[in-house]
Amino acid sequence: MSEIKHSNVIETDAFRDRIATVDESGKRKWIYAYQPKGRFYNIRSVLSVFYFLIFFGLPFVQINERPLFLFNIPEAKFILFGKIFWPQDFFIFGLTMVTFVFFIILFTAAFGRLFCGWACPQTNFMEMMFRRVEYWILGDAPAQKQLKSAPWTGKKMIKITVKHLLFFLLSFTIANFFLAYIIGINELEKIITEPVTQHVVGFASILVFSAVFYGVYAFFREQACTVVCPYGRLQSVLLDKNSMIVAYDYKRGEPRGNFKKQASSSLGDCIDCHLCVKVCPTGIDIRNGVQMECVGCTACIDACDHVMDSIGKPKGLIRYASENSIAKGEPLRYTVRMKLYTGLCFLLLALLSVILMTRKDIDATVIRTAGMLYQERGKDSLSNLYNIKLINKTTKDIAVKVVLKDQQGTILMAGKPVIEIKKEGQASGTFFIILPKSAVKQRKTMLKLALYTNGEELVTSKTNFLGPAL
Ligand code: SF4
Ligand code: SF4
Repeated sequence: MSEIKHSNVIETDAFRDRIATVDESGKRKWIYAYQPKGRFYNIRSVLSVFYFLIFFGLPFVQINERPLFLFNIPEAKFILFGKIFWPQDFFIFGLTMVTFVFFIILFTAAFGRLFCGWACPQTNFMEMMFRRVEYWILGDAPAQKQLKSAPWTGKKMIKITVKHLLFFLLSFTIANFFLAYIIGINELEKIITEPVTQHVVGFASILVFSAVFYGVYAFFREQACTVVCPYGRLQSVLLDKNSMIVAYDYKRGEPRGNFKKQASSSLGDCIDCHLCVKVCPTGIDIRNGVQMECVGCTACIDACDHVMDSIGKPKGLIRYASENSIAKGEPLRYTVRMKLYTGLCFLLLALLSVILMTRKDIDATVIRTAGMLYQERGKDSLSNLYNIKLINKTTKDIAVKVVLKDQQGTILMAGKPVIEIKKEGQASGTFFIILPKSAVKQRKTMLKLALYTNGEELVTSKTNFLGPAL
C-alpha cells in the first residue's frame, strides 16, 4: 500500500487497489446513490429533457424523404445530416470517424469528461431517467437500502415488480428508437404494425435490444462506465494536469475534520460529512483525487455546495478545476491551450461540414472500354468507346445526359440518348466520343465530361481519348 501526498494531507491510496463497486472479496457492491439537489442537477435535469426530445424526435425528422441520420450497419448504408453514404463514399465516412476521434482527443484534453457528465446517453438515461424512476418508486438511497434488507412483504414485492416493469417498458421504448436509427422510422413502423411473422428478425432485434438496455440500466449500471466504456478507459492518457475536471480543493479542504472539531481547531473546510461520496453514482470519493471512475456528473459539486452553504463557507470546495489550478490555488481559467484546442475542434468540424456539404449527389465513373483502340469515322473523325457507371444518391429518379465540356466533338449514346437512374440506385451506359482528327494532337487527349439533368449541370468527370501515335 503506497501513499499519495497533497500539500498538507497524507492518505493511503488503497482505494486504487480495486474499483469502488467491488469489495475485498471481489463481490459487487451495489451503489445506493443519494439523489443530488442543486444548481448543476437542476441544469442537467432541464438539459436532459431536450436530450430526450432530440433522441426520441430525431428518427422522425426527414429531409427529402430520407432520415436525418441512419446507421444501417447490416446494409452498409449510412446517412449523416440527410446525406447518404455508399460503400464508394467510405473514405468520407472514414474521414468523419477520424475527425470525430481527433475532436474527442482535443476536447477531452481541454474539458475532461464534460461529455460523460452532460452528453453521454448512458449517463443521461441512467441518471435522468431510470434512477429518477427508482427514486420515485423506491424512495431515496436510505429507503432503498432499508427496502433491500427488509423481509419480502407484499408491499416490497409490488414496489420491486413495478420498478422492474417500468424499467423494462422504458428499455423497450429506447430499443424501438435505437432500432429506428438503424433501419429508419418507416421500417420500424412496419415492424410494429404488420404481422410479427413478416418481421421476425426486426422483432427479435427489438427484444434483444430491450433485454440489453434493461440489463444495463437495472443491473449493470455504473459498471458500463467504469469497466466497459473504452472512452472511460482512455481518460488516463487523454487528461493532463491542465484538463478541466471535477476536483476537490484539497488545499482548502484539508485537514478535514467534523464540524464540531473544526470550530475549536485550524482544520480545513471539509467537514468529512461524506455527502459527496453518498451522491456519487460510481461510488468514489472525489477527495482522493482524479479517478478513472469519475464520470463528471457534478453530483458531488452540488452536495458539497449545499454543505458549504449550511456551514457558512464559500461554495466550490468541489468544483470544475484543473489539477494545476488547485495546486496553485487559482480559479479555473480558459487557458491559451483550451482556446487553441477549442479552435482546432471548430476547425475540424468546419472541415467536416465542408466535406459533407460539397459532396455530389451523383457519382460518375467513366472508363474507356478496355482493350479497344480508336476507330476511324469517315475521313476526318476518330471515336473511342466508353462505359459509364452512375450512382444516384438522391431520393428522386434522374435522367442524365452526357455532354462534352470545352471540347469540339460529339457524344453518341448506345441506346437511349439519356441514362435513367432510379432514386438511390445505380445505372450504367455505353457511348462513343467522336472527335475531329484536328482536335486529336497527341496519343492521349484529356477530356472533360459534364452530366446534365433538365439543363442543370450535376457533376463533371474526366477521361482520356486515345488517338493514333503521332
Ligand atoms: S466523483 Fe463527483 S463528478 Fe465524479 S462521478 Fe462521483 S459524483 Fe460524479
Ligand atoms: S461534501 Fe464537501 S464537506 Fe462533505 S465530505 Fe465531501 S468535500 Fe467534505
